[in-house]
Amino acid sequence: MNEKINVTEIFGADVFSDSVMRERLPKKVYAEVRRTIETGADMSSATADVVANAMKDWAVERGATHYTHWFQPLTGITAEKHDSFVTAPKNGKTILEFSGKELIKGEPDASSFPSGGLRATFEARGYTAWDCTSPAFLKEDATGVILCIPTAFCSYTGEALDKKTPLLRSMEAIGEQALRILRLFGNTTSVKVTTSVGAEQEYFLVDREKYLQRKDLIYTGRTLFGAPAPKGQELEDHYFGTIRERIGAYMKDINIELWKLGIPAKTQHNEVAPAQHELAPIYEEGNIAVDHNQLVMETMKKVAGRHGMTCLLHEKPFAGVNGSGKHNNWSLTTNDGINMLDPGKTPHENIQFLLVLACILKGVDTHADLLRQSASDVGNDHRLGANEAPPAIISVFLGAQLEDVVRQLVETGEATSSLKGGKLNTGVHSLPVLAKDATDRNRTSPFAFTGNKFEFRMVGSADSIGSPNTTLNAIVAEAFCEAADILEAAPDFDRAVHDLIKKYMTEHQRIIFNGNGYADAWIEEAARRGLPNIKSMVDATATLTTDKAVALFEKFGIFTRAELESREEILYETYVKAINIEALTMIDMATKQIIPAVISYTTELAKSMTAVTTACPEADTSVQKELLLEVSALLSESKTALTALKERQAQSQEIGDMEKMAYFFKDQVMPAMAALRAPVDQLEMLVDKKYWPMPSYGDLIFEV
Ligand code: ADP
Ligand code: MG
Repeated sequence: MNEKINVTEIFGADVFSDSVMRERLPKKVYAEVRRTIETGADMSSATADVVANAMKDWAVERGATHYTHWFQPLTGITAEKHDSFVTAPKNGKTILEFSGKELIKGEPDASSFPSGGLRATFEARGYTAWDCTSPAFLKEDATGVILCIPTAFCSYTGEALDKKTPLLRSMEAIGEQALRILRLFGNTTSVKVTTSVGAEQEYFLVDREKYLQRKDLIYTGRTLFGAPAPKGQELEDHYFGTIRERIGAYMKDINIELWKLGIPAKTQHNEVAPAQHELAPIYEEGNIAVDHNQLVMETMKKVAGRHGMTCLLHEKPFAGVNGSGKHNNWSLTTNDGINMLDPGKTPHENIQFLLVLACILKGVDTHADLLRQSASDVGNDHRLGANEAPPAIISVFLGAQLEDVVRQLVETGEATSSLKGGKLNTGVHSLPVLAKDATDRNRTSPFAFTGNKFEFRMVGSADSIGSPNTTLNAIVAEAFCEAADILEAAPDFDRAVHDLIKKYMTEHQRIIFNGNGYADAWIEEAARRGLPNIKSMVDATATLTTDKAVALFEKFGIFTRAELESREEILYETYVKAINIEALTMIDMATKQIIPAVISYTTELAKSMTAVTTACPEADTSVQKELLLEVSALLSESKTALTALKERQAQSQEIGDMEKMAYFFKDQVMPAMAALRAPVDQLEMLVDKKYWPMPSYGDLIFEV
């Protein structure tokens, strides 16, 4: 029943990849394309025409009828508008064409995408520009086969309206600054540094029939009501458990789809919560990893439908069990394969590594607020700083060995020993050889060093990894830049680098925390250390436009102040819209489904009492009576809470200012929603299941 899958054959089959280009493009054209990809040099229009034509031929041979500029507006998802290759018929016949101009630039009517005031509505023009660093690919669904061209999206005046543009700018910035660091250590051979990113994606699967019976899941992606099932995740019997057949068939299908798209899907397993799973691809260049993560999310949703399931990417679809996140693994790689986050084998390499590490600590400490902001989205508020880890406080986990090295450096100015007993190199400026520390793990840290990369674990499962990577690149670029400025001017490099490592580590050691990040004691300790604890997305939003943030992003041309202000505005608006939909959905469900169901049940109870008493006056109806009293009390509590929520929701609409409105939703509407949920969830535990108008948590997460 299991047909054989030839992975090497299908891998990348739907990608206009480097090897396809090499095969199909004239040598000179191919060379020019490579140059553009590698150095960002302009491409001539003649070359663009040749590439476009080759792309079209390749796509049409594979059944494509349309092309689209595929982009990532600030909605967090991707957007596409299809155009067919058809040209005006001549003598009743059409030929298929695709020009260089169409490849390079698109002009979608952008007025319906969030712009945060950057684009007046009358100036609806937005441009999409081909990002040749991310390969074009084919998407196949009911629409047919579509050639997708990854593009950046900006306004008529050049402001970024998407997640890709700033990401590309940030990759340039960090690449340039990282190269300066390498040169200082005598590397003359590497010509380019890029970020390597691998995003581990968590998700839930639920049965589609049941999903369709829950308006909250349909409209908001999460359950707004729901009493806990008798069993949760306490037995820890799901994590890494045997994958059930239905889920296995889904995973197999996902892998095939992803491999065809050239996405190196690698690891799959069951996660902690029932019905929760994870998929991790092999890391790729930052920009491609971001695009691919979008495709992973899209494919997960699409394929679920074929298996009679729905994939929930929301960060917290179910209260009381773990939510979903996305671990963003990040490192810096040169074009000749050097990982700058690899501790290395010689003291010399170690010094470079320790400088890189010191700069990262400095960047993360200086801009902990921005990093936290980059991982916030509406759904992630239910994880970060709420009942679930990781906490909203940014800290860095280094592991015992590295922490010890930092301690030695800070205390004595030298590190002469290594905890794991690696080779020792004593001497004034030398440092011990650092062994990769694979055993030392800390799952509670939001920003953990894991051998040769950092793992940023705060990111939400539904969110694009564009922003976290943009911010990460920017803050480390800034630290590299400052270090390079100092070291390039230093008369005695060895002395200067030693002093600088010590200085940065001393000044920023407060950001290092190897303990349990979930413990309350850490919250107090972090407060003592003066580390920010930004509890919600709304609180985090203003960090984008502080003078510190504007200086950082403007210095490297990643965002202008205007772009940051627009993003701030969009984030408030996004929050407002999302919570408003949640509030309205709760009102709708409570009014039309839950309250009527409970009334029916109380009527049944009352009828039963009368019937029993009529039939047998001496029979004991105290159970029915008690239940009726209890249910009626909760019913009236629910109705009161519903009225209060309606009032709050109505009040929210009177507020003109987006920021104020966002705070109103967070501080007034959200508590009113919780107040309605509480009695309803209690009712769910009391009311006869046949009256309850929707599948329960147990039905949803244990019966997939
Ligand atoms: P861990 O168990 O430490 O999380 P995995 O091997 O499971 O490590 O990798 C998790 C993710 O990190 C994968 O996507 C993997 O490809 C990615 N990854 C591994 N090494 C690097 C690196 N040097 N830079 C960026 N990502 C990496
Ligand atoms: Mg991991």
